[in-house]
Amino acid sequence: MIDLRSDTVTKPAEAMRAAMASAEVGDDVYGEDPTVNRLQDRAAEIFEREAALVVPSGCMANQIAIKVHTKPGDEVIIEDRSHIYLHEMGSASVISGVLLKPTRSEDRSGHLRWSEIEPALHIGHDYHGSATGLICLENSHNMAGGTVMTAEHCNDICDRAHSHNIPVHLDGARIFNAAVALDTTVGELTRGCDSVQFCLSKGLGAPVGSMLVGSREFINEARAWRKRLGGGMRQAGILAAAGLIALEESPKRLREDHANARRLAEGLAEIDGISLDHESVVTNIVIFDVSATGRTPADICNNLRDLGVLALGWDSVIRMVTHNGISLDDVDLTNETVNKILINDRR
Ligand SMILES: *Cc1c(COP(=O)(O)O)cnc(C)c1O
Repeated sequence: MIDLRSDTVTKPAEAMRAAMASAEVGDDVYGEDPTVNRLQDRAAEIFEREAALVVPSGCMANQIAIKVHTKPGDEVIIEDRSHIYLHEMGSASVISGVLLKPTRSEDRSGHLRWSEIEPALHIGHDYHGSATGLICLENSHNMAGGTVMTAEHCNDICDRAHSHNIPVHLDGARIFNAAVALDTTVGELTRGCDSVQFCLSKGLGAPVGSMLVGSREFINEARAWRKRLGGGMRQAGILAAAGLIALEESPKRLREDHANARRLAEGLAEIDGISLDHESVVTNIVIFDVSATGRTPADICNNLRDLGVLALGWDSVIRMVTHNGISLDDVDLTNETVNKILINDRR
């Protein structure tokens, strides 16, 4: 099977399994796991921050950040197709008692401009509205097709938010993909944000885990909330050993995933009935519209599965994500397979 459903399907490399087998471990709830501590120190260093924390998942990392930054009744400004809004089961309302204010990015890039955030702000207490407590950004933006936000854009929002004393959290599940695409560092790209979440378990290829980075004060509070949410893990060094390899080695090969995604997009864009601007594919996510084929995404995905290709479909689109388990040959075979399905359909 050529599995393009997500970069979460990546399996740990041999080197990761070997490192896990021989990892030095301790009880991380006591802060005594040396491998977890090494991973946290390295992440803080790479992101040029005071501290970092290993968290079981990206969802938990985002929710901890929202909890630490807000108080119940606050409003959180967020792009209307962001993961935190669409795909975290209303957790921010359950755990933090906040309102998410979905806000549209007019150019559909997924990256809100200050001119779009400003009208959504509630600053100062007017005794009716709910005060803006946080702004959440996402880079790269999953549902917008892996689009990236530049450091300049991100800093602009952070500077203006901070001038109103509003913190900014970045859902950087795929921040390394964004940094590679923009030819910059994750430190540079996230400098203004008060907290950043990134996933070890996606394109970086670790089996489990995400990290939060920020100030020492933020991370201390985040550690307490991780424990409250049941995310305090004991000999977590077994996982951190794979995480360290993911963090050190995997960013170097993301360029390959991006080249494969671009080649996939170029092939797909030539197929009748598929609507896709291949120039917009700059990381590892390809989302294309199939409404002009007259068929549903689910139907096309079923046909693809029968021919050995897995993809995800919803609304009028299909998503394909490249990762370390996808080769150039897989990409070419996928393009041939989609072509075959849609051509057969036209006969
Ligand atoms: C996958 C993802 C998450 C959540 O990560 P999990 O580890 O699956 O909980 C958060 N944000 C974005 C943008 C994601 O793609």
